[in-house]
Amino acid sequence: MAKHLITGGGGFLGSHLTDALLAQGHEVTGIDNFVSSQPENIAHLKGHSGYKFVEHDLTRGIPAEIATRKFDRIWHLASPASPVGYVQHQVTTLKINSTAAMEMLELAEKCGARIFVASTSECYGDPSEHPQRETYWGHVNPIGMRSMYDEAKRFLEAATMAYHRERKVDTRIVRIFNTYGPRLKMNDGRVVVAFITQALRNEPLTVQGDGSQTRSLCYVDDEIRGFMELMESDYHLPVNIGNPDECTMLELADEIRQLIGSKSPILHTPLPPDDPKQRCPDISLAKKLLKWEPAMPRKEGLKRTIEFYRKQLAVA
Ligand code: UDP
Repeated sequence: MAKHLITGGGGFLGSHLTDALLAQGHEVTGIDNFVSSQPENIAHLKGHSGYKFVEHDLTRGIPAEIATRKFDRIWHLASPASPVGYVQHQVTTLKINSTAAMEMLELAEKCGARIFVASTSECYGDPSEHPQRETYWGHVNPIGMRSMYDEAKRFLEAATMAYHRERKVDTRIVRIFNTYGPRLKMNDGRVVVAFITQALRNEPLTVQGDGSQTRSLCYVDDEIRGFMELMESDYHLPVNIGNPDECTMLELADEIRQLIGSKSPILHTPLPPDDPKQRCPDISLAKKLLKWEPAMPRKEGLKRTIEFYRKQLAVA
């Protein structure tokens, strides 16, 4: 059984990954300062013998209790990841994906761990290639309202490749596309949770712009399975992990209203600057390399997510 370190361990993806690794019998240490995540994501792990949690802000350096330990696998997932979150924490977003990421790469080098870094479809920006293959270099505004995230993640990839080439660090890079499911934070503006909570409250669904922009939504269990396959593969270049099941935001709003049986009207609000018009992963590489593809149909994944937020709102 391996020793895993997960930065952003209290986050949406970090907490689901923790559950999956613990279920396989691994030891997991999570680090988080909850800047954009929430303690309730890991509350159920209190007292678990294979789990340790350190509350710490990694932009201030790696704490001694982590720096002196030896890990087999390091997952650098820590970062604000929603447009609302990274605009609210711009400098933190830049630091956690640059200086803090380089410190994690050095920790991996020191203890001989394999390190997996969380990159993003945002590396492709507002893409002119569709669907996006890993070979596409992207179309990113370097000073725009998403630049602190997009450029930080592009730097993260560059840094990871540099440590791989020059220092022979054993690295993996995932490009994550929109992922949804239980434990996504409420009120951080992400579309699936925004629409579900609005529909459950019979409030208007805020469709930004005309709603013709597309996203491709992957259920969290599929995404985590892809992460684990990639970590244990022998491939160090970036791999798209996402669901190519693309829909417009207006279609998504309609689907969620129907599944909930909500009478919420649609309210068109301004489109945020630099909002990508379309996004869809080409997952040929993941299919070939990892024998991975998503299994959860959107309707079923949305139903499960709706049930989670129905309960959350009932106790709120
Ligand atoms: N969006 C929307 N209404 C909302 C929140 C988001 O129409 O209340 C749209 C947003 O403009 C974008 C898409 O949904 O085109 C996905 O937004 P999200 O913030 O979830 O993530 P992104 O993929 O933009 O990083």
